[in-house]
Amino acid sequence: MFHNVHKEKRSDRKYLYIQTFGCQMNVSDSDKIRTLLTGEGYETTNDAENADLILINTCSIREKAAQKVYSQLGRFRMLKERNPKLILAMGGCLAQQWGPKIFIRAPYLDVVFGTHNIHRLPEFIREVEKNRSPVVETGFNPSVKSLDIMAVPEEGAGSAYVTIMQGCNNFCSYCVVPYLRGPEESRPVQDILGEVKKLAGHGIVEIVLLGQNVNSYGKAIDGNFGFPHLLQAIGRVEGIERIRFTTSHPRDLSEDLMRCFAEVDTLCEHIHLPVQSGSDDVLRRMNRGYTCAQYLKKVEGLRHYRPDISITSDIIVGFPGETEIDFQATLALMEAVQFDNLFSFKYSEREGTAAVGFDRQVPEKVKGQRLQQLQALQEKHTQARNRILEGRVAEVLVEGKSKNSENDMTGRTRSNKIVNFRGAHELSRKTVSVMIKKAYLHSLRGEMVKGVGDLCSSR
Ligand code: SF4
Repeated sequence: MFHNVHKEKRSDRKYLYIQTFGCQMNVSDSDKIRTLLTGEGYETTNDAENADLILINTCSIREKAAQKVYSQLGRFRMLKERNPKLILAMGGCLAQQWGPKIFIRAPYLDVVFGTHNIHRLPEFIREVEKNRSPVVETGFNPSVKSLDIMAVPEEGAGSAYVTIMQGCNNFCSYCVVPYLRGPEESRPVQDILGEVKKLAGHGIVEIVLLGQNVNSYGKAIDGNFGFPHLLQAIGRVEGIERIRFTTSHPRDLSEDLMRCFAEVDTLCEHIHLPVQSGSDDVLRRMNRGYTCAQYLKKVEGLRHYRPDISITSDIIVGFPGETEIDFQATLALMEAVQFDNLFSFKYSEREGTAAVGFDRQVPEKVKGQRLQQLQALQEKHTQARNRILEGRVAEVLVEGKSKNSENDMTGRTRSNKIVNFRGAHELSRKTVSVMIKKAYLHSLRGEMVKGVGDLCSSR
């Protein structure tokens, strides 16, 4: 993501270093911040020691997030001791959660801004540049203005994030998001389409729609124009070859949305559909709003409309009260679905959530054993699902050079699997046909199909 490496600092320039933790939503927010601060004269650097402004965009989903942020702050504090003019800013979910309390631990911070205040960052930075006194703003705004900031894509990028909504009204009992991102807020469709068209004009061919629960897009603005309508509308934008989205709540996955996988040509055949547990009792205490049978029915519906769809999920093991029988039910659900991939975690408490204080905590050792068992099963499933592609030709959107070899390029199938193959750098951002030769756990190895001139598209 970083660009513009500066070894020699030029006195007339101001440099910005951003460190991003967590999810795609945060990555997208950091892109917006970069664009906003470009307007203030900042250029991005990947060298923190050379920066005039260092910004940490934090996440509180994972247990160790706070420790990681503290350790980074310690490192940046030393830079500030060497350069008192350096501005240190912190945004994201932990900034929202901690607010002014963070100054007890890190009094050297200059700006702390919450998830609804990104659009005001230039104003905060100007204030610090002028007065040299700290600024804190973590209030929620009824209409989240940050949603409307369009990040200018990097030179040569083929894919871009577009935030369509933020916040969440679901209050799953383990999750902090509704408290830190606020209530659900959808962007007007005209704004989203305007942004997608502009991105297409910049050469972007793939759009990833973002929101905490994209399936409930539009409910708060106009019940008649929901997420399936939005997908159809984006499907008609010229130049956009691929549409992806994340994240989907299983309860809100409608038949209309499933049908989009058959009807919207540019909608990629991949869905991330977090199930969290295979036990109805655990799902009820998680406040997920569906049963296992209902989840399986949705999976069946998705495969009815798109038999080759790839399905990935999230599972939490060791939620309070999870018995061995509950855990076995989760493994049984995994066997029934055969996920393409899975993000699995041991449950850990999040301050302020309903699950804090639930009784029947699962011992750490048991959580660890369950996680290992679950991950071993998933590896088998991932290998098997990837192996299905061996011998088939896949449409691959090339992202760039492979990290492992100078001569290889890397890209993704429509089903979101990474493919490495021998190819020239000029193929970046093009869609090529690749024969899959070998499936591994985390990627596929392929060969570009001969006569690619007829088979690849570019913009
Ligand atoms: S749906 Fe549940 S897990 Fe997802 S963001 Fe909302 S509260 Fe959190």
